[in-house]
Amino acid sequence: MKAEIIAVGTELLLGQVVNTNATFLSEELADLGIEVYYHTVVGDNPKRLENLLGEADHRSDLIVLCGGLGPTDDDLTKDTVAAHIHHTLVQDEQALARLHEFFTFSNNAMTENNLRQTLMIDGGIAIQNPTGLAVGTLITKNETTYLLLPGPPNELKPMFHHNVRPLLEERFPQAEQLISRVLRFYGIGESQLVTELKDLIDNQTNPTIAPYAKPNEVTLRLTAKIADEMAGQQLLDDLEAKVMDTVGDYFYGYGDDNSLVNVTVEALKEHGKTVTAAESLTAGLFQSTLGDISGVSKVFKGGFVTYSVETKEQFLGIDPLLLKKEGTVSEACAIAMAEQARKLADADIAVSFTGVAGPNELEGQPVGTVWIGLAEKGQPTVAVCQQFNRDRRYIRQSAVMKGLDLIRR
Ligand code: ATP
Ligand code: MG
Repeated sequence: MKAEIIAVGTELLLGQVVNTNATFLSEELADLGIEVYYHTVVGDNPKRLENLLGEADHRSDLIVLCGGLGPTDDDLTKDTVAAHIHHTLVQDEQALARLHEFFTFSNNAMTENNLRQTLMIDGGIAIQNPTGLAVGTLITKNETTYLLLPGPPNELKPMFHHNVRPLLEERFPQAEQLISRVLRFYGIGESQLVTELKDLIDNQTNPTIAPYAKPNEVTLRLTAKIADEMAGQQLLDDLEAKVMDTVGDYFYGYGDDNSLVNVTVEALKEHGKTVTAAESLTAGLFQSTLGDISGVSKVFKGGFVTYSVETKEQFLGIDPLLLKKEGTVSEACAIAMAEQARKLADADIAVSFTGVAGPNELEGQPVGTVWIGLAEKGQPTVAVCQQFNRDRRYIRQSAVMKGLDLIRR
């Protein structure tokens, strides 16, 4: 079962719109056990679309097209596909009734070209559009199935979920499904992770291991292709255990939508601990990152932004002599900031950030030097020195991630 996705729209080629439909459709098709072999983008040009269809129907069992079902003259997907398979376009009565209903309650007048949106390919199944006016079509000709969906994601997604999925499940029953699991790592770069897991990655065919690097973290997607869900989970468990043996120290959580801040907040909740922060170079970024998490008020007390020497003294009461003697980018300053913040906010844990975000060095210390302090009730306060590279933004973000990681552990 081979599928491909053709996104139609000149706006995609011009870079004005990101082809998120392809991502969505690929994920959905993978979930249905249908493998996607190609993504193509083509402009609103019938000739080029026709050429592409000529290639696609040789190599794919299912061709999903999105975009170009609208009312305007450049919306030519339906006409082109219909011509390609020698079918005509016909009015879909349900879509027509919806169109009339829509314009009864609209301030806009219906124009002749709106009717184009209610046309479908003769002989196919109409895919109704609950959030828009353009009707889709699913049609099979010469062993190739064509699925036509509109471009706007807010129309395409509900159509796919409600109307297309059941049809595809029926037509293409799954012999095997793809079962995947995402493992997330912090504190190790992609190349190091891949090097450590080289043997495992090289010798692994089912399940497969796919690494993906993001700023400051790496994810591994383990995917098993198998008929039985339980057996698939077992395969993933076994592979995960091998991965953990090697790089388990850097693992922090599961899932596509997870993040280090989520895990840190969950850990604080679990231990019933509150947190505060004193931030210099990060200037509130750490606290803002915590603020992204709903329900963080249970563990986050608020904190301090002390960017200058003066505010470190005024807001946190840090001894001016210490700052003069040790400098602000120092272990002593990070420790004092964390301890003072913890006391003043009456929190269980405080983290502090002081360093050189750049582009110029500070107090003779190179750009990217960051001291991060951690004060915890009943424990000796510590500070770690990190050397981050790249630009200001990255240095500040990296500091925040490190702070989260220190708290989580
Ligand atoms: P309409 O009835 O709105 O004209 P349509 O089916 O003709 O729908 P297009 O004209 O191709 O669709 O696209 C309409 C809008 O949908 C685009 O301007 C863009 O914002 C969005 N869109 C189109 N294709 C994609 C895509 N592949 N990924 C994400 N968004 C898209
Ligand atoms: Mg359009």
